[in-house]
Amino acid sequence: MDGTMMSRPLTLDLVFQRAAALFGSVEIVSRRPDRTISRTTYGAVIARAHRLAQALVAAGVRPGEPVATLMWNHAEHVEAYFGIPLAGAVVHTLNLRLHPDEIAFIANDAGDRVLLVDEVLLPLYERFADRVPFRQVIVVGATGPVAPGRLEYEALLEGVDPSTPLPPLREDDASGCCYTSGTTGKPKGVVYTHRSTLLHSLVLGLPDGFGLSASDTLLPVVPMFHVNAWGLPYAAAMIGMKLVMPGPYLDPPSLLDLMRDEGVTIAAGVPTIWLGIRDALEAEPDRWRLRPGVRMIVGGSAAPAQLITDFDRLGLQLIHAWGMTETSPLGLVSRVPHALRDAPEALKLSLRAKQGTPPPLVEIRVRNDAGDVPRDGRTSGEVQIRGPWVTGRYAGIDVPDRWTDDGWFRTGDVANIDEHGFVQLVDRVADLIKSGGEWIASAELENALMCHPGIREAAVVGVPHPKWSERPVAVIVPKPGQRPSDDALREFLATRFPKYWLPDAFVVVDEIPRTSAGKFKKTALREQLRDHKW
Ligand code: AMP
Repeated sequence: MDGTMMSRPLTLDLVFQRAAALFGSVEIVSRRPDRTISRTTYGAVIARAHRLAQALVAAGVRPGEPVATLMWNHAEHVEAYFGIPLAGAVVHTLNLRLHPDEIAFIANDAGDRVLLVDEVLLPLYERFADRVPFRQVIVVGATGPVAPGRLEYEALLEGVDPSTPLPPLREDDASGCCYTSGTTGKPKGVVYTHRSTLLHSLVLGLPDGFGLSASDTLLPVVPMFHVNAWGLPYAAAMIGMKLVMPGPYLDPPSLLDLMRDEGVTIAAGVPTIWLGIRDALEAEPDRWRLRPGVRMIVGGSAAPAQLITDFDRLGLQLIHAWGMTETSPLGLVSRVPHALRDAPEALKLSLRAKQGTPPPLVEIRVRNDAGDVPRDGRTSGEVQIRGPWVTGRYAGIDVPDRWTDDGWFRTGDVANIDEHGFVQLVDRVADLIKSGGEWIASAELENALMCHPGIREAAVVGVPHPKWSERPVAVIVPKPGQRPSDDALREFLATRFPKYWLPDAFVVVDEIPRTSAGKFKKTALREQLRDHKW
């Protein structure tokens, strides 16, 4: 028999139409650069997204053309997320934390000619403007007249002819584009499609994924210029969640004020954000009374087990997930399986601190030279992944060694997999330390050090050594008023790791350098420590 089902293309307009019809009055709240709060609704945002789409089409934006954004998280950025794909074009979010040279490289590599830019980010734009031939620059959030040659966003929307037709959409049309962080080589473009974005949104919301519901209020702390804010704005529209957008203010008090005042039930961000939130909540326990059971999605770097238990104690739940720009990003999420609900707390905690299991439609395997590693929680190999929201290539550049011959994406992350199918990352291939011919996983040491009561943050890197070729050195940020001795730290680690893994030195710093996405910048640390005296 042949299937009898309709073949409706999986395009994002489906999500927006339904959101306008069913969630038209649900709020989208934004914190503005002047710190005031503004409120709008899905109904208004989707109507304005249509006008933006029409304005772009009328201005000559062609199907498949990238339209760049240089914006913080706020309602107009949501309008761009929805309106640009409705115009058949591709939202290309530029990462405002990058160096202007790098932004220029990325905008040119993508072929961006139209830009939506926050007025407060014009000084940044001006630092690369002469190097990218934009034909149209649209200023969002203008508080006064815009410079000649630029368009003002509100005027653009007002001037639209509402009869302008929008192009038909196909599910494999490109809808969004992000560049990899380029820690190895130049940043590379990854292009999402309507279909990949829609399927990803659907799975993000599942009960054992992020468990999203229309009764939730979501705060994406993760910037919209970092892997589409983990796809959350699209999932929010699909599900009808109230959205709370933090604008440029990502400091713990500003975020906690929003969480308290707007009744946030779920938030998403990198571990650094939650470290700051934990410290603020512990320092002033009565200042912010959050809803009980608030969930916080953490990813981008490993969530230390200590952070998970600290939040449990505060009545808040951290949910650990793993992904990459190349994987949209959801690739793994750590949820204790139903069958283990009565398992000892220590086992449950250890599972929650792992990166987890793949959601539906994603396949994961961990491989080394001997093939798939056994599910013993010890043997390590590279994580390889495939699925409908995993990229099959990079835009405009051939990098064949990132895919296996049988079509899996090679993540460059090293992990083991346990009997429950939980994947635990031990390191990036590039961050592994080779000492006397043996491998040492720097990330495992970091995670262990961050469970020491005297340590706030720790990063471990391999430093050239005359005898061992490399030895691990730990760079630590102690908690205020504490400085555990090197011997105490080595003793602490010695219960879990072989002797040759223990760092030879502990370097105290005020702050660990970070990448634009908030990850430890190990290249900078290696550079700083290159001439370390042994
Ligand atoms: P990006 O493409 O910039 O999002 O970076 C992806 C990389 O971030 C992954 O390959 C991992 O190395 C790292 N990463 C993401 N999530 C996690 C996590 N939960 N734990 C450890 N590393 C992570």
